[in-house]
Order: sequence, then structure tokens, then C-alpha cells
Amino acid sequence: MNIGFVGLGIMGSPMAANLIKAGHAVTGYDVSAERVDQLAALGGKGASSVVDAVGGADVVITMLPDSPQVEEVAPLVIEYGRPNLLYIDMSTIKPETSRWVARRAAAEGVRVLDAPVSGGERGAVDGTLSIMVGGAEEDVEAARPVLWALGTTVVHVGPAGAGQTVKAANQLVVGGIYGLVSEAIVLLEASGVDPVAGLDVLAAGLAGSRILELKRHTMVKREFAPGFRIDLHHKDMGIAVAAAREAGVSLPLTGQVAQLVAAARAQGHGSLDHSALLKVIERLNG
Ligand code: NAD
Repeated sequence: MNIGFVGLGIMGSPMAANLIKAGHAVTGYDVSAERVDQLAALGGKGASSVVDAVGGADVVITMLPDSPQVEEVAPLVIEYGRPNLLYIDMSTIKPETSRWVARRAAAEGVRVLDAPVSGGERGAVDGTLSIMVGGAEEDVEAARPVLWALGTTVVHVGPAGAGQTVKAANQLVVGGIYGLVSEAIVLLEASGVDPVAGLDVLAAGLAGSRILELKRHTMVKREFAPGFRIDLHHKDMGIAVAAAREAGVSLPLTGQVAQLVAAARAQGHGSLDHSALLKVIERLNG
């Protein structure tokens, strides 16, 4: 297929590379010219604008930082895409924005899916992302050949916006677990117990999680190179809190974690990995 790809950052760049490897013709655009050049070096075609990337595409994918960027780019995709275009937004944004994009697209005869991902840069590089898809069943079916080149789990979770709601739930769970693992490390160290030995046991028991499996060693060593930045997790906690308000539910632990992530950012750790939540818990303890 001819695929237009907009947003060639940490995630978008390796995802576009996997589409090229799967045999698709990818034309990519990013506001950073360096990112566009990198795609061309991988066998893709560089575009000079969103409109240039979208014209002639069967499928357009966007992988942008946040809702404002999608609000800027999506109308161009819808206006300049060919009739019956399949537009897949894979950014993590507000469910409300995805529903707004879907309404605009339907009015112009463009098929649209929200398909945020989990699995991080590693998952993007390896093509092992988990992809949560919102939209119409027949459009999800049409997107499968593209999505399976990017991930190993592709689940249709509901109508437009549902993919983003599932992603918000994912992010509040991840943030909460980082908070509790941080508290466990602080408790172990303050009690004179070796945190490496302690967390090894936790990882093998009922408290075990992917976060303990993948991150306990770097957290104990205080290695916080991203990964997934605190700034992006702050955005995602905001999405989770807003989604809870819209659904009319109270999520007290999510509120608490959102404030801790905000504190990490306020303390100047926005560009560190989200496991740097540990720094906030340490600071609370002097
Ligand atoms: P990133 O900042 O590395 O990439 C975003 C890219 O979009 C950048 O290269 C930027 O130059 C480009 N961009 C911004 N505005 C643009 C515009 N108007 N037109 C064209 N290009 C534009 O971010 P990322 O880590 O790749 O994340 C992308 C999305 O995926 C975010 O919503 C993030 O929350 C989500 N996500 C990230 C991870 C991760 O581990 N990094 C994991 C899962 C989901």
C-alpha cells in the first residue's frame, strides 16, 4: 500500500521503518527535516508538508505528541486525502479529540481509527507493540495488514475514542505501579534491606509486573535515561483525569499519581524516564 506517515519521532520513525520492511511504500513528513532525511535513508520517501505526504496515499498514519498537533494535522489529512482514505491516528491524545476527528472525517467520506500503542520505543523498533483500536469493525479489518506490521497484539476495543480510553487506563496503571515500586525501594533502603534482593523476590511473586521485570535494576541504580519521558506521562495523566471527569467517575489513586508525576516535572525531571518518579518519593523522604 501507499502509506503517508506524519510524525517521525521516537515512535513514528521505527514504525515507518517496519512498514517499509513489510513492503509498503511510505512517504513521511515531520516538522524536523532531520527526521524526514532519516526516513529517506531507510528507503522511504521524504515529503515537504503534510499535504505532500497525504496526496496519493491509501492509508495515512499520524504519530504526533498530543491533541493540539492532531487538531492541526488531522483536518489537512481529511481535506487532502483521496476519497475513502483510511486514516489511522496512533498518537496518545484525549478520547474527545479522537471523536472530533472521527466526526469531521465521516462528514468528508474519510474512514478513521484511533489506534494508540503501548510497548515503548523497544516495541516500536521490534514491531511488537500492543495496539488498542477504536472505530468501525470494517475499518479495523481494512487496517489489519498495516497494524500487524507494527504490533503483535491488535485489539478492537470499541467505537471512535475507545482506543484512547483504553490507553488512558493503561497509563494510569503504569504510573501507579511506578509510584508503588518507588515506595518499595525507599522502604527497603531506609530499613537497611538490599533493594536488589528484595525486588527480585517481589518480581517473582504476586507483586510481579512487567515494570518490575524490566525496570527494577535501572531504578535501583538511579538510571533514568528515557524511554518514555515524564513530560509525556504528565500529558497522559491529564488525559486520564479528564476522561474520568467526563465519565463521571472518581479515581482517587489516579489523582494522586497525577500529582506525583506533576511534581516530578516541576522538580525539573520532565525529560527523564517515567521511572524517575522515584526521585519524587525520595525527596518526600528528605
Ligand atoms: P516524539 O516527540 O519523539 O515524536 C513526535 C514527532 O512529531 C516529532 O518528531 C515532532 O517533530 C513531530 N511533530 C510535532 N508536530 C508536528 C506537526 N505539526 N507536523 C509534523 N510533525 C510534527 O514523541 P514519541 O515518543 O514518538 O510519541 C508520539 C506519541 O506516541 C505520543 O502521543 C506519545 O504519548 C505516544 N507514545 C509514546 C511512547 C514512547 O515510549 N515514546 C510509547 C507509547 C505511546
